[in-house]
Amino acid sequence: MRRVIILGSTGSIGTQTIDVITRLNRIGYDFEIVGLGAGHNIERLSQQVAAVRPRVVCVAEESGRDELARRFPDLEIVVGEDGLLVLVRTDDVDIVVNALVGAIGLPPTLVALEQGRTVALANKESLVVGGELVKTVLADHGGTIVPIDSEHSALLQALSAGKREEVRRLVITASGGPFLRTPLVELDRVRPEDALHHPNWNMGTRITIDSATMVNKAFEVIEAHYLFGIPYDHIEPVIHPASVVHSLVEYRDGSVIAQLAPPDMRIPIQYALVYPHRPDTELPRLDLTAVGPLTFAPLDHARYPAFDAVLFAAERGGTAPAVANAADEVLVTRFLAGEIPFTAIARGIAAALAGWTDDAPLTLAAVRAADRWARTVARKYTP
Ligand code: MG
Repeated sequence: MRRVIILGSTGSIGTQTIDVITRLNRIGYDFEIVGLGAGHNIERLSQQVAAVRPRVVCVAEESGRDELARRFPDLEIVVGEDGLLVLVRTDDVDIVVNALVGAIGLPPTLVALEQGRTVALANKESLVVGGELVKTVLADHGGTIVPIDSEHSALLQALSAGKREEVRRLVITASGGPFLRTPLVELDRVRPEDALHHPNWNMGTRITIDSATMVNKAFEVIEAHYLFGIPYDHIEPVIHPASVVHSLVEYRDGSVIAQLAPPDMRIPIQYALVYPHRPDTELPRLDLTAVGPLTFAPLDHARYPAFDAVLFAAERGGTAPAVANAADEVLVTRFLAGEIPFTAIARGIAAALAGWTDDAPLTLAAVRAADRWARTVARKYTP
């Protein structure tokens, strides 16, 4: 029996995690979903509660709790960010799937690791804003992180082909997003609905915009740095529009090991849940003769200025990544609301970072303060 908690259960990764667990149990695995954490989508959460019968559920607001309690009188319901921590501390949990979106995902990751649990991590911000904190907790308590992100799942698999000291560099593939071929002068005028149309992956709203700006790819470089202990100058993004090669590891002898798979998140989710095993749950298969040419190109830094802005924050360290992340979250929302042009997302992140002079040591409180400050600045930002 493996007991699982899913944070962010009603989102894209959360719903696919439930699908994967259902498939695994059908072929003889014994996963039990003991807890679900969701935000405001009480309708979908209710369907999930009825289907998987968890012991405890966390919702974002009191109103959600009342609604859910009416439907499931015997269910234990906790609320808000503190509720997420209660959920993670539930007895006898083996795996915490963290598919929350945003910096809100960091405290549950830290608490789960403190309890020595395995964290199947889809929440990038845990490592982006709290990488050093996560590193310390891992060293002190011995929990484990297994990545769900497709690129990092690919890297984890490719890294098993050699030793860490034999790695020359990690190559992280990027689709290039919907504006890979849009003339640079037109980027100012692209609309939210153009940006939301991702060519290969069907994902949540924020991550889709973050893919168009490459903020997502910069976050993934930071994630890779903390997951695998590889310095930033040995991690490179490469544009690969087909999203078939999910990432590669180059070894010092010249060998390059890649992982290929259909662009279906259930494959890396399953790998994280049963790592390092490879069960047959009849997920989509890759037809090499049908994928067409696989092309690779260098990242065009003029097209994706937000990538450099976020990596600059990463190299600066401390709370700078928290500022970049919070500013991005607000600026993406403002772009989607039609308040600012697409290109203002990158400029706004750079402006927030330029205004942030605090270099206090990284603590959870410092992350929260940086996050709050950056949100205020990004809300007022005029391009
Ligand atoms: Mg990814």
